[in-house]
Amino acid sequence: MTTPVLQVRDLEVHYGLRRKRRQALHGVTLDVSAGETVGLIGETGSGKSTLARAVLGLVPTSGGRILIEGEDVTDHRQRQWRRLRRRGVVQYVFQDPLRSLDPDLTVEESLAEPLLIQGVSRREAGVRARTLLDRVHLSADLLPKVPGEISGGQRQRVAVARALVTEPRLIVLDEPVSALDSANRVQVLEILKELRDDGVALVFISHDLGSVAGIADRIAVLYQGELVEVGAAAAVINEPQHPYTRLLVSSAPTLRDASATRAEREELRALLSA
Ligand code: ADP
Ligand code: MG
Repeated sequence: MTTPVLQVRDLEVHYGLRRKRRQALHGVTLDVSAGETVGLIGETGSGKSTLARAVLGLVPTSGGRILIEGEDVTDHRQRQWRRLRRRGVVQYVFQDPLRSLDPDLTVEESLAEPLLIQGVSRREAGVRARTLLDRVHLSADLLPKVPGEISGGQRQRVAVARALVTEPRLIVLDEPVSALDSANRVQVLEILKELRDDGVALVFISHDLGSVAGIADRIAVLYQGELVEVGAAAAVINEPQHPYTRLLVSSAPTLRDASATRAEREELRALLSA
């Protein structure tokens, strides 16, 4: 078997110091392989973004290991993380594309910048920028525009194109479709499926099981900083094992077998708060 692109082992993350110290992740273990999409779900505050940030070297870990393409990066210093991020093996897309895109750069400049830094010629960078736009199903007409001049859905697709510039092996997407309307959501999900088919490993984070259900090969459920369930997407949706997963499934109205009654949902809530 080939080494998974991402291996997370017994990961612990704490925030704050002394009396304010709070544990955000408890012993999280998860693998993501090339060409695989893992949907990470859980309610707000369950630690999803913390896990994303840890994998990108943006929050310090207090226990466990993180391996990227087999390389143990857990004890990397900031400088080494920066170098790793610049190499672009791991990329990220946030909910708000304005956080991943510089508002003053045109689409062309945003896409070309990482290439120019790598020493690619301006001409070649322009050609690659067009190819990338094509890959996210956007027209080259957008190249001279700044993020403020294009729609939210187009912006998020430009953010995905920008993540692709360095040909990453892993992309962490934190709520990438949560701010989009349903038409744009479908388009972005379609693009992500194509990337997955091209062999990119994806971690797709959402508080909404419905968005993840159509794209994830496996689903991981985070509850209060702990992974309470990980399994094939169909199994997690149709035969959820943990009470919290059952609650998520029953409150996602678009999922087929999500026909729990209100009474059942209340029962599950009571069970969880016990
Ligand atoms: P999610 O993305 O699932 O909503 P987060 O990872 O953002 O969850 O947050 C997990 C927990 O860690 C929450 O209790 C949150 O309040 C806390 N937390 C997140 N970021 C910080 C931070 N920078 N400092 C202190 N606590 C934080
Ligand atoms: Mg979050």
